Amino acid sequence: MLLLHPILEPALSLLQDGLDLVHCTSDQAQDPAQVADLAEGCQGIVSLITDRVDAALLATPGLRVVANVGVGFDNIDLVAATHFGVLITNTPGVLDETTADFAFALMLSAARRLVAADRMLREGDFMGWQLDLMLGVDVHGSTLGVVGLGRIGRALARRARGFGMRILYNSRTPAPDAVESELGARAVGLDELLGESDFVSLHVPLTTQTRHLIGERELGLMRPTSVLINTSRGPVVDERALARALSRGTIFAAGLDVYEHEPEVDLELRRMPNAVLAPHIASASIATRSAMSELAARNLLQALAGERPAHLVNAQVWR
Ligand code: NAP
Repeated sequence: MLLLHPILEPALSLLQDGLDLVHCTSDQAQDPAQVADLAEGCQGIVSLITDRVDAALLATPGLRVVANVGVGFDNIDLVAATHFGVLITNTPGVLDETTADFAFALMLSAARRLVAADRMLREGDFMGWQLDLMLGVDVHGSTLGVVGLGRIGRALARRARGFGMRILYNSRTPAPDAVESELGARAVGLDELLGESDFVSLHVPLTTQTRHLIGERELGLMRPTSVLINTSRGPVVDERALARALSRGTIFAAGLDVYEHEPEVDLELRRMPNAVLAPHIASASIATRSAMSELAARNLLQALAGERPAHLVNAQVWR
């Protein structure tokens, strides 16, 4: 079994108990040729969302399962995995609430200019209370547009209810009536959502359909007082177009956790005082990262024991 990176307890002990583990060093994990060498003879691999799991690695003879630590699996060539009969698993569910907490934190920080205000104070520029100091936009009572009303989108919408927000959503599959009425959420087209929402929060997976879902045209539909939140995947947003919208003030602010070319972040975006920029940490609570590690380990152990893993992404491989 190949561990591309260290994972958190209790997952490590679970795997160590009975499996022959090969650990990558971080240098080796950067180099596909070295990863391929280490994978030789391994039946299972535990990967992170930063690992590119490509066709060459998936073709490793005898490989049966790749357990990704994360709900997103856009780092894995799923077509190749299915072709080579390799099971791919992910870790949905255990990170919904933590990720939604963070999306809400980004909403509040970007709307109320918290990071810029903190910076101003530390730089010694706080001269006392002023009527027009650091004016932001209100979160309570405003309209939230959720793009992708899945597990995390719904968890965010539940929080928004507590702030008296009106909820619009756009999703590939309409949510069941019970979910719509629990959340008070109304399905609308993407253009309508962008034009009507004070906050637009993205919760779609990265696919060929969602790449640059939010570009120049879509940003142009948003209001000058509106805020874009992205905790999904960076390439869902055209980062250059977003930097332009922020600098021209065609939207009020953005709160981002993910970027098009991680770990690189567009220089213009980094210069924008109305962007709150986090380093891909939306699921990073101690409990949640540990639960994600454990779920990945359990998925892998189930697959190696010949059982159907609880969170199988490419079900067609299962016979
Ligand atoms: P999920 O439950 O599968 O929800 C995704 C939702 O997006 C589903 O309702 C899906 O509709 C919808 N969707 C898919 N394609 C769409 C499209 N083209 N237009 C509109 N809606 C579309 O996934 P989740 O667990 O909430 O996670 C969402 C994503 O968040 C993950 O894929 C991951 O990339 C990201 N994430 C990031 C972090 C972080 O650390 N920043 C943490 C966790 C997750 P269907 O029901 O039709 O599939």
